[in-house]
Amino acid sequence: QVSRTESKKLSDDYEVIDVLGRGGFSVVRKGVSKYNGKKSYVAIKTLKRLGYTPQGFQQNPAARQKGLTSSELPTWKQTSISDALLTNEILVMRRIVEDVSPHPNVIHLYDVYEDVNGVHLVLELCSGGELFDRIVAQERYSEVEAAQVVKQIASGLDALHKANIVHRDLKPENCLFLNSSNRSPLKIMDFGLSSVEDFTDPIVALFGSIDYVSPEALSQRQVTAASDMWSLGVIMYILLSGYPPFHATSNRQKQQRILAGDFSFDNLTWKTISSSAKELISRLLSVEPYKRPSAKELLKHPWVIGDCAKNDIMDAEVVSRLQSFNARRKFRAAAIASVWSSKVFLRTKKLRNLLGTHDLTPEELQNLRVHFKRICA
Ligand code: ATP
Repeated sequence: QVSRTESKKLSDDYEVIDVLGRGGFSVVRKGVSKYNGKKSYVAIKTLKRLGYTPQGFQQNPAARQKGLTSSELPTWKQTSISDALLTNEILVMRRIVEDVSPHPNVIHLYDVYEDVNGVHLVLELCSGGELFDRIVAQERYSEVEAAQVVKQIASGLDALHKANIVHRDLKPENCLFLNSSNRSPLKIMDFGLSSVEDFTDPIVALFGSIDYVSPEALSQRQVTAASDMWSLGVIMYILLSGYPPFHATSNRQKQQRILAGDFSFDNLTWKTISSSAKELISRLLSVEPYKRPSAKELLKHPWVIGDCAKNDIMDAEVVSRLQSFNARRKFRAAAIASVWSSKVFLRTKKLRNLLGTHDLTPEELQNLRVHFKRICA
């Protein structure tokens, strides 16, 4: 049962240990429960409220304690995007607790606390690492292992979709293994951009990689459960080749290719992959959402249940490509997170200097500028 009492303090119930990671508007720390004698570890995701307005400042005891005066604070309005993300994630997580949990492939929320630092979500701790990190470290990797991954994600999505929740931001970094065992379940997490039908307002993904974004989301048409299936199709393609289906030298070109569903199975990489896997990817990456199989249908597909997935060890090139794809992605995420979490990002000139040294395409840089401006408007 998730509880949230204003008087309840996080520090009364949990001891916060080390930082596990940082997101755009959040920091995730490991914590240990003080409830009873036996130690149980959790992940505590703190969603920050930025609230830089003078009004926000007046009501913000933390800022007052730091001795800042309102004239020292920036003059822009409330950072509504961060607050919208925060509220959305809580609403969706609550719906998950009510209608989905416990499900082996969806992160579990234990508790919610609120204080001047923001909102703290006490979550199941996933200590098994991110999806692609685990795959590139594996000694044995074949279509069967890839099918296991697709099956677990489909199973989590099926439960979410049944509860009318659309994840909207499904990507490998939002899939973490619960523990380091070979048989560890894979968990879908990060519901900041998710939507519950007739319940939350969908939040538009603002920036970041568009690799997993469906054509309908890119063209701002209705995003549905089928959009998550597209993202799963992209993940499946990468799992079997080590590179994304819509690779391009610029974001604009990538967008065009996504909108047209323009991808191929180049012979060199794909000739050894089973035709059943290719058929399934082609269906998942249909531009028309209704042509994509649902999560429920996917769970019955012969490749997913393992009847057609090949057991031969995959070409070493696939894993090595996946390794470099993963490393590049992590570098970008770190650059973006560091920019977001720094107040410096609000100054366009400094932003340019800061990002100039990082491996971002001109389009990504432009997107960041536009969105920072929007936030400050
Ligand atoms: P954003 O929210 O901006 O999209 P993100 O998804 O990376 O960014 P978070 O979900 O806040 O941000 O996660 C930040 C980091 O903390 C990630 O590296 C993630 O792997 C780690 N993390 C998040 N939740 C857990 C968890 N339950 N257990 C272990 N690590 C976690």
